[in-house]
Order: sequence, then structure tokens, then C-alpha cells
Amino acid sequence: MRIQFLLVLGVSIFMACQSTSKTPPIPFNKYTSSYSNFDSVTCTKLDWTAKVDFEKKQITATAVWHFKNTTQAPNIRLDAYDLTIHKVVVNGREVKFFLSQFNEEYGSGLSIPLSSDDSIVSIDYTTGSKAKALQWLNPEQTAGKVKPYLFTQCESIQARSLVPCQDVPAIRITYKADVQVPKGMLALMSAKNPIEKNPSGNYQFEMELPVPSYLIALAVGDIEYKAIDARSGVYTEPVLLEKAANELSDIPQMMQAAESICGPYRWGKYDVLVAPPSFPIGGMENPRLTFSTPTIIAGDKSLVSLIAHEMAHSWSGNLVTNSNWKDIWLNEGYTTYFERRIMEKVSGKSYNDMLWELGYQDMLSDFETFGINHADTKLCLDLNGRNPENAFSNIPYEKGAIFLKTLEENCGRTKFDKYLNEYFNSYAFQSMNTELALKFMDQKLFDGDTLFRNKLKVREWIYGPGLPDNFVPTNPSRFIAVDSLRISFEKTGIISSVELKNWTTHEWLHFLRKLVRPQSLSSMTYLDQNFNLSKSQNSEIAAEWFKLSIASNYAIAYPEMEKFLSKVGRKKFLEPLYGEMKKSKENSEMAQRIFAASKKNYHPLTAIKISKLLNAK
Ligand SMILES: [Zn+2]
Repeated sequence: MRIQFLLVLGVSIFMACQSTSKTPPIPFNKYTSSYSNFDSVTCTKLDWTAKVDFEKKQITATAVWHFKNTTQAPNIRLDAYDLTIHKVVVNGREVKFFLSQFNEEYGSGLSIPLSSDDSIVSIDYTTGSKAKALQWLNPEQTAGKVKPYLFTQCESIQARSLVPCQDVPAIRITYKADVQVPKGMLALMSAKNPIEKNPSGNYQFEMELPVPSYLIALAVGDIEYKAIDARSGVYTEPVLLEKAANELSDIPQMMQAAESICGPYRWGKYDVLVAPPSFPIGGMENPRLTFSTPTIIAGDKSLVSLIAHEMAHSWSGNLVTNSNWKDIWLNEGYTTYFERRIMEKVSGKSYNDMLWELGYQDMLSDFETFGINHADTKLCLDLNGRNPENAFSNIPYEKGAIFLKTLEENCGRTKFDKYLNEYFNSYAFQSMNTELALKFMDQKLFDGDTLFRNKLKVREWIYGPGLPDNFVPTNPSRFIAVDSLRISFEKTGIISSVELKNWTTHEWLHFLRKLVRPQSLSSMTYLDQNFNLSKSQNSEIAAEWFKLSIASNYAIAYPEMEKFLSKVGRKKFLEPLYGEMKKSKENSEMAQRIFAASKKNYHPLTAIKISKLLNAK
């Protein structure tokens, strides 16, 4: 198929028609951030044939879309981001297509004329150098340092730079793929996956369950697999495999806990790909194959709640999906709540209470940044005309989770769990919006009792800014001891290492976050010398320590911080650290220098964000 496909490229170019001032503009829907007409012509299935070229850093592919045109629309419109379209064939006949002018945020609309009984469109194309979904790594950017690596990150509106598609979470598609990669490399997708490399480098995939476009995913690299049990395992580079498999060996218990709360896992296997360090986020819930940052590999399983989060998305997000990104709290709030319920079962209540408190602190920090009455502190966001990427924060996660926790406390856990199960069963493999979710809540959780619902201030939670006063506070008993040690340290400049010996990551984070700023040179030196914080191998503790170091002008930590920033690409760490450096002129210059040297290792989306943050070129 590949050879045939490449041969036709040369002749097809004459049929192509890029949009010019003479061609009509393709309408863009600012509510969905999409050029697609998915509500009149709906894609249902994708057959994707792709060749991954590491030398050119591009994917040359054919996307065959099966669609339903129930409204007899005269064209199908797709989203495309920096794609070179070579040829379009509709139901066997080559057609003239239109690609609208490129927009940096949203890409272009691809409009393809249809006749009334058309149902298949085939698009030959090549991805571009601006593709926001693709991160191409040179060998030296990987853990093994021998072979290059590619991974995708399509949430929220980046799938259009991998494949021309109706890039909205409101519709779902199944897909099959035939992917050719260089010999000696393994390809993986959010689908049924191989567990070992094959000599030809050709891999077939199928995702037979319908998923939205943002859950299409691909990774290619020197990757190996280790099973944890029959249903779960870890994919990563060979040098990390043993360590990663040990760190994630509790996945079966987590899955058991998740199923006991929300019902059966519906996706078959649950594997985790531990990606290279430049992976831009903590994790991505690609169905059947969570992509995860290697920064969760702390050696003591202390950061694996992130996996509980991604696993929880197998229900909230992947099974029942926000239909529009403005409703992202339905994905992230439910998932954060569910993640904590899993962690409570796996690690106990006092441990989990720390997770709730740290999440609460993250939310308060965003309230402070935005201002308590800012529209982005509402659960249901107003994204009219905004790229969803620019509107996301901790608020849909943490405020959403606290809202659900408040409902649980008021309705009782048994009733709440019954409601959760009914929610996931009733809307499995469908999209969901806030109003429909509230209606279902009214029926199943409040039994139509509007007085009770109003007492719980449900609409204020969803449509109001800030935090309603009926929220259930966190109660982290283990932080009481941390606070008293911190207060004593602030007075005396010393702290007993005996008491700190059993601290988890979370106790450390709470301690470092709450320390008064700036700390004196002697206090910083004392902590660093006694607890080796500048060289901490725990990424969460290291990032929190570096933040305190910048605020305290503790320059001794800067060389280690620079190393950290040059290899770790996780936005969660980069934004606060660069943000903290930006606060003073001197540190601002350091931030510019570190960013200039490190940005090649960051994902394109992260580099754009940090660049904007620093106003850097
Ligand atoms: Zn999430």
C-alpha cells in the first residue's frame, strides 16, 4: 500500500487547490475550535496507512475516512494543521479540495466536495514541521541515546496536525492503522498493541471501540515490554524497563480498586508507556496505553497516584467524554475525584488526605493567580474564541473533585457510588455536556429533590467563580506534625532528621511549600546539606525545592536546577520555575539563558507556553 501511495503523489499535485483569495473561506466555529461540519457530516471510522520518517521528521500517510452524510451536505470539512495535502479521492474519484489559510492557533479547514451518496474520502498527506501533536527526539534526547523517538500528544486540539480529522471531542470514531517505522523500532498506538518488535518494522493496529480524535496516539522508539499481570504491563526504553516495571507493579491492585468503585474496565488491556523525559505533561490517558512522564519513577512508588489518575480516565473521559472543552471538568473533575478514591483504597485514608490537601493548595494558588472572581475559576468555562489549551488550569481538576466530594459527603458514599456506576453505564462511549450531566444528577442523585440540590448550591459550583462555602474541607492529619516541625524550624533553623525519616513525598511538598519566603542562606544550606535536596532524584521534591531556592536567592542550587530544566519537559514543573525566575530582573536573565539552551528538549506546545511566559523569542 505504501508503494502505490507514494507513486500517486507526483501526479496528484495538479489536482490540488490550496485556498487563495478566490476560494471561499471555510467557516470556523469558535465554540468548538474547529473548522469541521461534524454535526452534518459525521466521520465514523478511520483507516490510516502511515510511514514514519525520522530523517525528514515527518509522517507521510493516507487517511481514509468513512462518514455519514445524513443531511446531504455538499461538502465534508475537516481540521488540518500544517499538513501538505497531496490528493483527495471521494468514493473512488479524485476531487478538487480547498485548504483555508493557515492559522497559528487552529490550523486550516479542509473542505472536500461531496455528492449525495458519498461515504468514503481518502486523503494523501504529509505532516508539517509545525505539527503540535508530534515530538521528534534525537537519540541523545532519549534515555538509551542510540535511536530516535517519536510520540504524539493530541489533547486537546492537536490531532489535526497528525491526521486531517473532525477534531472535536463530540464525535467518536473507530480506527485501524498500518504503520511502517524503521527496522529495530517498535510502534505503539492507543489500540491493540504488539508486545515485541518485528523485523520488518511494519505494525497493524485496531481500536474497535469508538474514541474521540484527541485519544488517537502513536509512539515509536526503541521500546520494550514487560508484563505485570495478564492485563497490564509497562512499555519503555530498555534501560528503564526493570525500574519502571517495579515502580508500577501495583497497577493490578489499582485496577481492582477502580473496578470495585465504578464497574468493569471496558478497554481490554491496560498498559503504561513510560515516555522519555521531554514528555510535556504528567500523563495522557490514551486508551489501552497511558503515556506517562518518567518523572513518576521515584524509586519508592511515591508518585504513582498519577497512574491512578490516568487509569480513572478509562471511565471519566474515555468512556464518557466532555462534548466540548468548556466542559472539561466532566473529564478532569470526575477523574481527580475517582483517582483519590482509588488511592484511598490502595494507600489508606491518611495518605489520601494529603493528596486532597495538596490538590486544594494547587487550586488556591490558581485562584490567587487568576483572581477569585475570574471567569476561569468557574467549572463550566467560557471558551468562546479561545484555544482550549490556553484556558486549562488546576481548577477543573481540583474544584471539580471537591465538588463531587461535597456531593458524596452529603448524599452518602453508597448512594454516590450507585450514581457514578449508573452515569458511566448509561453514557458509555458517548459524549456528555454539563447540562445533561446535571440533569442526570438531578434524577439519580437528588431524586428530583430540587430543594436538596439548591441547598448543595450545585449551580453555584458549576457556573459561579471561586469556591462555594459548603465545600468539604480537607483534613490531612499527617500535615499537622509537618506544620509543627516547620514552625519550629523557622524559629530555630534546625530540624530533627529522625522525624523526617518516614516522610513521604507529600509531607516534603507540604513542608517546602509552606516555608516562609525568602529563607535565609543558613537555613537553605542547612536543609540542602542534611537532606541533599538540590540533588533529589524525586522530581516533585526537586521542583518544589528549586522554586524555594529561586525565591530565597539560593544560588548554590542553580546548577542542579539548570540540569533539571534541560532534561525534564513536564509543564507542571517548568511553568512555576520559569515563572518564579521571571519575578526578578537578574533571575529573568537566567531564565532566558536556560530556556534558550533547553527548549530543543521541550515539546513544541511547552516551548510555546514558556516562550510566551518569558516573552522570549
Ligand atoms: Zn486528567
